[in-house]
Amino acid sequence: MTAQQATATRLFLSPPAVGHDEHALVADALASGWVTPLGPHVDAFEAELAATCGVGHVAALSSGTAAIHLALHLLGVGPGDDVLVSTLTFIATANPVTYLGARPVFVDSERASWNLDPDLLAHALHHRARHGRPPKALVVVDLFGQCADYDQIVPLCAEHGVAVVEDAAEALGATHRGRPAGSFGTYGVLSFNGNKIITTGGGGALLGDDAGAIARARWLGSQAREPAAHYEHREVGFNYRLSNVSAALGRGQLRTLHARVERRHAVNARYRSALAELPGVAFAPVAPWGRPNHWLTCLTVDPAAFGADREDVRLHLAAHGVEARPAWKPLHRQPVFAGCEVVGGDVADEVFATGLCLPSGPALTDADVDLVADLVTSTPRRRTTGTHR
Ligand SMILES: *Cc1c(COP(=O)(O)O)cnc(C)c1O
Repeated sequence: MTAQQATATRLFLSPPAVGHDEHALVADALASGWVTPLGPHVDAFEAELAATCGVGHVAALSSGTAAIHLALHLLGVGPGDDVLVSTLTFIATANPVTYLGARPVFVDSERASWNLDPDLLAHALHHRARHGRPPKALVVVDLFGQCADYDQIVPLCAEHGVAVVEDAAEALGATHRGRPAGSFGTYGVLSFNGNKIITTGGGGALLGDDAGAIARARWLGSQAREPAAHYEHREVGFNYRLSNVSAALGRGQLRTLHARVERRHAVNARYRSALAELPGVAFAPVAPWGRPNHWLTCLTVDPAAFGADREDVRLHLAAHGVEARPAWKPLHRQPVFAGCEVVGGDVADEVFATGLCLPSGPALTDADVDLVADLVTSTPRRRTTGTHR
C-alpha cells in the first residue's frame, strides 16, 4: 500500500445517506420558490416528527444545540442556576447551559447502558434538596442511540420538581418500553446534523406536549418578532428556525427512518458476530428496557486481554482508510469545563479510555463491515501483551 492510499479515508463513521425521496421533495421546495424562511415543508416536517416521536408538538430548528438552548430558556434557566448534565456526551449537551449563565453539574454513567446513573442522580437530588440547592433542570442523553433508564429518572425528577430535557440527538427511532426516544422529558431534542440518523444538512427539533411552549419556542427562534407590520421586539430572541428547503430534505429522510435504523441494527449485529470470539473486545451494553437505534456501534478494548489498546486499533484502521473515533471524552474532563462539579465519573472515564466507535452508517455494505472487523482483528499486538498494565 502506498502512503497516499494509506491516508485516504474510504469508510467514514456515519456519513449522510441521501435517497430518492429527498430529491423529489427538495426539487418541490425549490420549484415552489419557497426556499426560506419556513414554509409548508417546515409545517409538514414538524407534524411528521410529532407523529413519529409520539409528542404533541415540534418546533423545527437550525440545530440540536439550538433546541437544547431554547428548552433550557423556556424552563427559565438563568444565571446562578445549576443544571445536571450527563457527562458522557458531545459538548453540545452542556454548552447551552453556559449560554444562559448557569452552571453544568456533570453526572456519571451507569454500566447497564452507559447513560446517566439513576443512583447517582438520586443521591445528588437528595443531597441538594437537603442543602437547599436544587438543580433547575436535568439534561439527560440517550447515548449512541440508546434511551436512558427513564423508569427511574423521570419519577426521581418529578419527586424533586426538576424538569427533564431529553437530549435524543442521537436517538431518533430508538424506543424505551415501546415509547419513542424524544418523548420522555418536558422537552425532547433531536439533531439533524449530517452524521445523525436523519439529516437536513444541519438542523434540529424541539419536542414537547405543551402547545403554548412549543409555539413560544418557534417565536423565540424567529427573533421574537411581535405581530406588527414593522419590526417590533419586546424580548431578546434567536435566529434558530429551519428553512423550507432543509425541511423538505428532512421529510424525505424521515420517510426511510425505519430502513435506516434496521440497517444500523444489521451493521451492529454483523460486527458482533464477526468479533464475538475476539479476547478483550466487548460491545457497548444494550439495556433490557428498550431498543436502541445503534446510531454508532461502539466496542471496548481491554489492552491486557487484547494485547493492544483502543488507540492502537484506531490507528490501524486509519492507516487502512477507515475512520473510527474514541467514545466521547467525558465533559468533566474537558478543559472548557475545568472546575465544574462532577458526581462520580469513573464509568465515563473508563468508557473513554477503552471505547471505540466504528463506521456505522446505513450505506455500509456487508463487505465494508467485514473489512472493518478484519482490521480490528488484525491490529498488531504489542510484545509486552498483558504485562505492562
Ligand atoms: C449531535 C448532538 C447534539 C447537537 O446537535 P447539533 O444539531 O449538531 O447542534 C447534541 N447532543 C448530542 C448528544 C449530539 O450527539
